[in-house]
Amino acid sequence: MAKYCPVIGLEIHCQLATKTKMFCGCEIEVNTTPNKHVCPVCLGMPGAMPVPNKKAVEYAIRLGLALNCEIDLNAMWTRKNYFYPDLPKGYQITQTGGLPVYDHPICKNGWIEVTLEDGTTKKIGITRIHMEEDAGKLVHDMSPTSSHFDANRCGTPLCEIVTEPDIRSPEEAVLALQKIKQILEYTQVSNANMENGNMRCDGNISLRASEDAPFGTRAEIKNLNSFTNLEKALYAEITLQSLTLDAGKEVEQCTKRFDPNTNKTIVIRSKEDAHDYKYFPEPDMVRLVTDPAFVEEIRRTLPELPDARRKRFITEYGVTEYDAHVLTIDRDISIWYDTAAKQCKAPKTLANWVISELLREVKELEGGLSAIKVTPKQMADLVNLIENNTISGKIAKTVFAEMFETGKDPEAIVEEKGLKQVTDVGAIEAVVREVVAANPAQFEQFKTGTNPKMKGFFVGQVMRKSGGKANPGLVNEILDKLAAE
Ligand code: ADP
Ligand code: MG
Ligand code: ZN
Repeated sequence: MAKYCPVIGLEIHCQLATKTKMFCGCEIEVNTTPNKHVCPVCLGMPGAMPVPNKKAVEYAIRLGLALNCEIDLNAMWTRKNYFYPDLPKGYQITQTGGLPVYDHPICKNGWIEVTLEDGTTKKIGITRIHMEEDAGKLVHDMSPTSSHFDANRCGTPLCEIVTEPDIRSPEEAVLALQKIKQILEYTQVSNANMENGNMRCDGNISLRASEDAPFGTRAEIKNLNSFTNLEKALYAEITLQSLTLDAGKEVEQCTKRFDPNTNKTIVIRSKEDAHDYKYFPEPDMVRLVTDPAFVEEIRRTLPELPDARRKRFITEYGVTEYDAHVLTIDRDISIWYDTAAKQCKAPKTLANWVISELLREVKELEGGLSAIKVTPKQMADLVNLIENNTISGKIAKTVFAEMFETGKDPEAIVEEKGLKQVTDVGAIEAVVREVVAANPAQFEQFKTGTNPKMKGFFVGQVMRKSGGKANPGLVNEILDKLAAE
């Protein structure tokens, strides 16, 4: 199989986190009684008039600004006509339409930056973000075979983010999708949860012989619902297209789906064209005219974004690039660490604790971060106790385990269990002398320097005898002093 260069572009649908629907006042509530939140507008009854949801427009603009887009102050609504049983209206209101005259999505010409495996960064263009409404949902029942229709999802606001064909490998596609998901979470415009379907990704991919050859014909793989499936589907399609090209055949443009069980992409239809949808300007709505002051207000109140937060953690808290990356992947965790770090004397040590201890526990815990009993303040206090030599790092692990179980303050646990570090030189020296007396041969080896491992042996013995409470620095000093006697 010859090696070809992949060209990839993504289309990402995400549900906006508004309380009500895109063009009516119906509430958005998941997992509720079917057909509970419906009205003439979202059911598409003749004569019902849609009115855009200002919050949804605000979210789309916020997302656009976060993705470095230009905002179209005179955006346009179009009607995309098609029949499907989950679409009582027979059309969706959207902001695309194939023809340049219809092409006024709310946001365009943006970019994101991803960090590649070798540490270099790469910009990936965002072609556009347009708003649209979701269709309803079909529920298939096998006993007896029947299909049900739930209109609750009809008219739910969506944003579709389209990237430029700037992506060059399945790994890069995953990085791009991760970055977009992260920005959706940081801006809080969407829950961006791929598992429950409020964020889905279509992958477009074509192959060409070399990096400077013209683009090949693409396949579009629909509805990829996880990072793993995106990567696997793109690899499966690379294999398939490579074989086609190797055989001297041409790749046909088509729409596909991915079957994770067989690891294959399957054609669902030959590529539909814009004219199949008979797009036209939405006659029930005027242009979406946005006040520039509204955009500026959204820009002014844009929250700190992942890249900025990562860089701030490095400069403000002295953590490594890697720490900052891990601590900012998840918005909630980044806020948790930030809150703790502000109250901590050693934010770098704190970062180590959060990454190695806290995140490990969070991963295991059902409910994740929101289920843990330890507060950021308590975590900061624990690290402060290590910093001011009240407890050793080793004892701190015991304290942390207890905090995690009970939610008690670290000071209270240290007090209750008598875990305070012993810094009384006299008391430590007494223990050191005891250990030395019990191991005269080993002490001789340490003293004469014939066995370099002996110091560790003595420190270990003293720590054990003191229940881990002796200050290790002092133990070392006292050992050196005795050796020199
Ligand atoms: P459509 O709406 O018909 O799917 P678009 O022009 O909106 O078409 O493009 C959809 C996606 O396909 C974009 O993400 C774009 O980057 C990507 N794309 C376009 N041409 C190619 C190509 N030759 N190979 C891979 N991806 C492509
Ligand atoms: Mg498409
Ligand atoms: Zn409604």
